[in-house]
Amino acid sequence: MRWGMEPDELARLTAWDKNHAWHPFTQMGDWMDAGHQPLFITGGQGAWLTDHEGRRYLDGNSTIWTNVHGHRHPVLDAALRDQAGKIAHVSALGFSNEPATRLARALVELWPEGTLSRVFFSDDGSTAIECAVKMALQYHQLTGSPGRTRFAAFTNAYHGDTMAAATLGGIGVFADRFRRFGLETRHFEGMAELDAAGEDFSRTVAAVIVEPMVQGSAGMQLWPAGMLTALRRWCDARGVLLICDEVMTGFGRTGRMFACEHEGVVPDFLCIAKGLTGGYMPLAATLTKEKIFEAFLGKYEELKTFFYGHSYTGNPLACAVALASLEVFRREETLTKLPAKIARLTHELSLLKTEFPDKISAVRQCGLIAGIDLMEDVSSGRAHAWEKQTGARVCVAAREAGLLTRPIRDTLVLMPPLCVTEPEITLAVQALAHGIRAVCVSASASASASA
Ligand SMILES: *Cc1c(COP(=O)(O)O)cnc(C)c1O
Repeated sequence: MRWGMEPDELARLTAWDKNHAWHPFTQMGDWMDAGHQPLFITGGQGAWLTDHEGRRYLDGNSTIWTNVHGHRHPVLDAALRDQAGKIAHVSALGFSNEPATRLARALVELWPEGTLSRVFFSDDGSTAIECAVKMALQYHQLTGSPGRTRFAAFTNAYHGDTMAAATLGGIGVFADRFRRFGLETRHFEGMAELDAAGEDFSRTVAAVIVEPMVQGSAGMQLWPAGMLTALRRWCDARGVLLICDEVMTGFGRTGRMFACEHEGVVPDFLCIAKGLTGGYMPLAATLTKEKIFEAFLGKYEELKTFFYGHSYTGNPLACAVALASLEVFRREETLTKLPAKIARLTHELSLLKTEFPDKISAVRQCGLIAGIDLMEDVSSGRAHAWEKQTGARVCVAAREAGLLTRPIRDTLVLMPPLCVTEPEITLAVQALAHGIRAVCVSASASASASA
């Protein structure tokens, strides 16, 4: 049994996990329930995962939106091993290391020359945002606009969970408790509302932050075409900096390397993380323009320095894997192969919607990202009671058909690694169909069959 676990070993680990671990975004009371067996993921290969019983599942959400080229990719594995044979970590405070320097250059080269030219490394999406926020505030302080202290963000936005990142967020359950401890942020529905905000507001704004093309944690909500261009114009006309949070959308997810490319927009700060290392290691980066960077230059005693950083900034193991991931994008022509996969996903999603006209109220897709909204009854507009966790139950049922994914409330999410094949995409959508049938249809269907 490959990657399986012996029953007594599983029992011991399950007890330890329930007694000592605290899982993110998880009601631990439910987790510790005697009837709950956590799934231990013991291995992976390509787009597939294996659990403690040796069962295999397609990685339907790219291991929470991180994996790009698949698990155990030989090129990424080799890069990690090679770097481990040299040194695992080097402090970026006062020293450089080859993988981090090469990666900074490679990331800048993904953008038109002279646009984004500086790369500041951190550890995850939230710290990439934190860094952009502090850079924006300090930039305005250093350039004579210390009154720009507020932030503009969008309704239902998600930018991470550290304090500043959380309070930029617009999803109530994640942010409301901490709102008064964080940044002064005003949330807008979209461009119309932002346009309507007067100059009294806009001249106090340091930066606007947006998830370009698609808001992930909001349930894969798509922006109207032209939104990003309009936002760039809004910022330019008012001296406001633009932060694009591509933590989820970066590295091919939307069909282009970066979502900003769909509208030819260059932000003042680009935040990337999840897919940066191909989903192997925590690593993030905040890219910015030379104009911003130069404001921080001066004599030491002028105290213009950006006093910010983390112990693992520019970690060589993570940077080596990130370089290998970019190499795989080139070697395997990952982006060139995407349109056919995206078209297959579109096709399968339309079949799914047709099969469940009364259970699926909407399907949204951007590249290889999909959100599928479930409803109790579409014709009468009745939503599922949220406490019933229908989305979660559908995803659990989809495991029986070989798919592992996680919903956002009653929105099913499909976001396979870019290495997914067309038949695997069909399998993934059919597994969701199986889940919907089992959870949303079979109860009423079997009731009427026995009647
Ligand atoms: C996941 C995510 C973040 C936070 O990244 P972490 O690595 O989890 O801190 C920020 N923004 C977006 C759009 C994300 O999807």
